[in-house]
Amino acid sequence: MKQQKIYAYFDGDQNTKNLSGLCIELLAEQKNTWHELQKAYENFNNVKVRDLPCKGFSVRIQYNPKRITSSTANINSTHINKRPCFLCLDNLPEAQKGILYRNDYLILCNPAPVFFSHLTISCLYHRPQTITEHIDILIQLAFDLNHQWTVLYNGPRCGASVPDHLHFQAIPSGLMPIEKEGSDKKRSVVLKKIKGVTISRLSDFCREVLIIEGSDMLELLHVFKHILSALTRISPIDEEPMINVIVQKNGERLRFHVFPRAKHRPEAFFKTGNDRILISPAVIEMGGVIITPVEKDFERLRASDVEGIYREVSLGKDAINEVLENLE
Ligand SMILES: [Zn+2]
Repeated sequence: MKQQKIYAYFDGDQNTKNLSGLCIELLAEQKNTWHELQKAYENFNNVKVRDLPCKGFSVRIQYNPKRITSSTANINSTHINKRPCFLCLDNLPEAQKGILYRNDYLILCNPAPVFFSHLTISCLYHRPQTITEHIDILIQLAFDLNHQWTVLYNGPRCGASVPDHLHFQAIPSGLMPIEKEGSDKKRSVVLKKIKGVTISRLSDFCREVLIIEGSDMLELLHVFKHILSALTRISPIDEEPMINVIVQKNGERLRFHVFPRAKHRPEAFFKTGNDRILISPAVIEMGGVIITPVEKDFERLRASDVEGIYREVSLGKDAINEVLENLE
């Protein structure tokens, strides 16, 4: 471990500073000392945004040309094995520093921000992106970052642009439409309650989302693992089922939004010429913020396009019903 890469330490000890405050300090420090990040945030101030009302929900479209690398990331294994991994410690830019989090992770500033603060929580070791064995750290992170931050996970086959290196993201809470829509009692349908953990679903949403809510870390872990194994049984791939996850803390409770996916990119992504729509849905898009690195897409996107893309990449209602039947 290179000591010069550590800006601060957080190990959960009561004597250490709170993690949320440390992250804000890290961002301020890195904007001062890391020129590339300073530039990235200057560019971020120029992104264009428009709200698009869809059937029963709303999305925010963001024209952000700097996200082109992420949106078009080649996740083919042959390509990945050849390129240097940019989350590995040895390959981080010289000026980049992070918070050593519970000995195994480094909290870093994301150099291509989608929000006014954007963090990447990267494992110190080069190991594949998977939630199955690391759900405990995602829960711990959400508790440690507290209600100021929302924690995100992209599955290796549905949004992670570095699928070979385990990582999460964190953004200021309340910036994605789902965070409000998910707590709307009128549209949320409670499906099951298991030992203090509630599982519900949202109606009229054009995409399936399972909302898991509870305050007990072990029970949440238990329910999440059951949902994962039920999804694995119906999954078309023989790896971890494709999911995106958003976790936020409300009071003492954690709320998980789990988006089960049928495919990574919509057909329109692979078309050519004017028919191409360059949208690569990952966790932020599933949460209701659609990033378009191409200005033409930003201007022409209609509600019906967004609804169609969501339906195409989300697992269908029948499949979700099967998952819930399998759940004990
Ligand atoms: Zn790596």
